[in-house]
This record gives sequence, C-alpha cells and structure tokens, in this order.
Amino acid sequence: MKLYNTLTRKIEEFKPLSPPLVTLYTCGPTVYDYTHIGHARKYTDDDILKRSLAYLGFKVKHVMNITDVGHLTSDADAGEDKLEKGAKKAGKSVWEVANFFTEFFLKMINCFNIIMPDYLVKATDHIPDMLQLIIKLEQSGYTYETDEAVYFDTSKFSNYGRLSGQKLEEKLKGARKEVYIDPKKKNTTDFALWFKRVGRFKNHSMHWNSPWGDGFPGWHIECSAMSIKYLGQTIDIHTGGTDHIPIHHENEIAQSEAATGKIFVRFWVHHEFLTVEGQKMSKSLDNFYTLDDLQKKGIESLALRYLFLQTHYRKLLNFTWKSAQAAQDAYNKLKEYVLSLRSQGQRTFLSSDKLAQLDKFRDRFRQAVSNDLQIPQAVAIMWEMLKSNIPSQDKLDLLYEFDQVFGLKLNEVQEEKIPEEILDLAQKREEARKRGDFSTSDKLRSQIAEKGYIVEDLEKGFKIKPSPASLR
Ligand code: AMP
Ligand code: ZN
Repeated sequence: MKLYNTLTRKIEEFKPLSPPLVTLYTCGPTVYDYTHIGHARKYTDDDILKRSLAYLGFKVKHVMNITDVGHLTSDADAGEDKLEKGAKKAGKSVWEVANFFTEFFLKMINCFNIIMPDYLVKATDHIPDMLQLIIKLEQSGYTYETDEAVYFDTSKFSNYGRLSGQKLEEKLKGARKEVYIDPKKKNTTDFALWFKRVGRFKNHSMHWNSPWGDGFPGWHIECSAMSIKYLGQTIDIHTGGTDHIPIHHENEIAQSEAATGKIFVRFWVHHEFLTVEGQKMSKSLDNFYTLDDLQKKGIESLALRYLFLQTHYRKLLNFTWKSAQAAQDAYNKLKEYVLSLRSQGQRTFLSSDKLAQLDKFRDRFRQAVSNDLQIPQAVAIMWEMLKSNIPSQDKLDLLYEFDQVFGLKLNEVQEEKIPEEILDLAQKREEARKRGDFSTSDKLRSQIAEKGYIVEDLEKGFKIKPSPASLR
C-alpha cells in the first residue's frame, strides 16, 4: 500500500513494523462542545484508512483518545482550558460536560458507521502515565520548571520542526503573539507538560498531585503517554487534521522521542478540512452544522459519508447543501441497485469472459485503494461495475466487498415501508386513471409528491418510491 507521509512529504510504500499488524493512533476530540460534520469528515476519513488496511489484509490495532482536560483555547499555551470554558457556558461541572459531549461524539461515530477503536481512552484516566513520562523527560534534562508550569525545552530537541518543515528560528519568528505568556518561559515554541494550579489557573477544577505541586497536564503529553502505553514506543501510523501538524504533532514527536530515544511514528497521515464558503467549518467561526441540521434537511448521515468518499482525504471539501442533496440522491440510487440486484437473486453461469471482467474490477478497485486511498476513483469503479453486464449476483457480491471499504451499510439496506396513507392515495389515483379521470389522478399524484413519494406507472399497476432528496 502507498501512503502520503507528512514527515517526508512523499508518497511512500507503507510496510508496517510487524506485519500484518498495523498500530494506528488517532487524535480524538476535545469534548467541550457539539461535534459537527467537519469532525465527521475527519473521523470518517480515519475510518476509511482503517477499513482499507483491513481490506488489504492488515490487522489494525487502533487507539483514539478523548481529550477531557488540558486543551487550551489556543493549541499553544494561551487561553482558558476548553473544558472549563464549556462547563462555565453550560453551568455544569467539567465532568458532566465531558460525559455529555463524549456521548454526543459517540452517537456521531455510530451514525456515520465509523468502527470503534480497539481502545478509546480518556486523558483523565491516564494522569499517572503522563506523570511518568514527564518525570523521564525531567531526568533526561529536557524540561525546566517555572512558578507556573513545567515546560519542554524545544531548543534541546534538535529535530524540532521536522514535521512542519520549519526550523525553530522560523517558528519563533512566525509565532503568533500569545495573549498571556509566562515571563519565565524560555522559547515561544516551548510547551507546557504540566500546569500548576496557580495564577490564571488557581481555580482550575480538574487537578491532581504531582512532583511539581497540584495541577493538571498540558494537552500534548496525553497522546504520547497513551500511544506508548497501548501501542509501544514506535507506531506505524498516526493521524490527525492538518491543523495539528505545526504544534500538537510537532510537540508529540519532541516529547516522545526525547523520552524513548526511538522514532515515535513512522507514517504521519493528515486529513484536510471540510470548509464552508472556503472557510474551515468550526465552532469558533459559527459556520457549522450538526447531525440535527442534516436530519432537518432530510439528509442521512450515510449519504454524507458517501459525499466524503468523493473527495480525496488530502483535498479540501467545500460543503454545500446542494452537494449534500446530490449525495443523498446518489446514495438512494445505490440502495435501489442493491434491492434490485437482490431481487434478481438467481446465480447464473459465469462465462470466462465475465469472470475476467469481475477480476478486473476487483483489481482496479484494490489498486485505487492501495494508491494513497484514491477512494473517489474506487467509487467511480463501483458505478462502472454496477452498469456492466456481469451477472446480478456477482455484482451484488462485489458491491458488498467494496463496501467493506466504503462502509455504507449496503448489506443492511431494506425496502422502505410505504405508509398506508400513501398506498391509499396511490390506489385511488390508479382507479381515477383507469376511468379516464386524469384531472383527479394528477391531483392525487401532486398530493403524493408533497408527502415525499413518487408514483411510477408500470405496464401492469404502479410502483411507489420515496422522492429523491432534491425534490423534497
Ligand atoms: P477539535 O475537537 O476541534 O480539537 O477537533 C478534533 C479533530 O477534528 C482535529 O483533528 C481537527 O483537525 C478535526 N477538525 C476540526 N474541524 C474540522 C473541519 N472543519 N474539517 C475537518 N476536520 C476538522
Ligand atoms: Zn494528539
């Protein structure tokens, strides 16, 4: 399999350290607010990577964290703790807020048919592991302590900046002016491993004992501690949004490699954003949509998943309701294909010509998937296959096989039950039509359409189906 590695800025041949095992770590959400469909794109793309690896024969061991402490409103060390801020806004405790938004996140994972990680781990359950790592860094001389915090000294780590391709001096020049800077912090790029419960954080509600006094961990250390704990000192793949490259992931590398002396991550895979009118969908810009908004517009989450499949993970995806509706229509069509193929269930004799065609579709699909996840191409191959002349049952089998990567739940598609009321109207329309009363039959057709269904006249009788989303 070929994968783009942010570390080398090249598409490389991916070979895990201990095949067929692939160790995979994903930076999870900070659970202080609602998950939006921008997050959904990112975690769906992770899921597609994971499903693709499994499809190609690897055994994936996946860890994802839940950040429930320490992530400040800026990814660097400025601002408030996001959880404390969320708790204030909701008038609840930080623990209640974290539980509520973790549940919301898990609901989203389920709606988008994202496979749960083998380990879903909370930062607050791993404070001893983080402390252990910080102590190790302190003993190796990579840290310094001020009145307010324990920092990682980035000037001591010679590879700092390798992931983002920026030298330390450039990073220092380009660094934004933080709202608050600890006067004893030595370099702008240094980052807190441990915050003390003093000064701006003196009322911080989450806190633990440590060798440096009462306090709480900085954001970055949790991912290193949990990745090392569950997956070992060197892992195969680490994923995240592109926003994590310059600070969070750079810091994860520095602290992990300084502590273990080993390469932390072999392949860094970063996903591009979902945008709205060219801007990143985000809570702070207030340009975000959630699952509820989708529901109100009659868009299924799996139709949105289909939309995500159509853009390569390293390209921006600009979200519009028009594109979401087009995806819903395409997804409906796909479901209709499944039902129709199922109803033609008899397996027929497969000529050698058709067998070759079948293998060719499978090969092309495999190649697309293994070529840095060219999923849009894989989707196009699926449509081509469906329109080909290979026997229905083989089409259906291959479609289900492709869906191991797509995750559109095609084998669970069920005939939609048409409500009695619609069946009644359609029956009345059929009778009007038979007696030649076309004005009544047209009126009834419009009534049926208003309720979200269309009637198709067949040679004998009629067929009712839900209208495409774009007509609703
Ligand atoms: P957050 O909870 O905001 O820290 O985000 C969790 C993950 O979702 C990070 O890896 C972000 O890169 C990613 N993310 C946030 N907003 C978007 C977006 N609009 N499109 C894609 N990924 C996003
Ligand atoms: Zn992380």
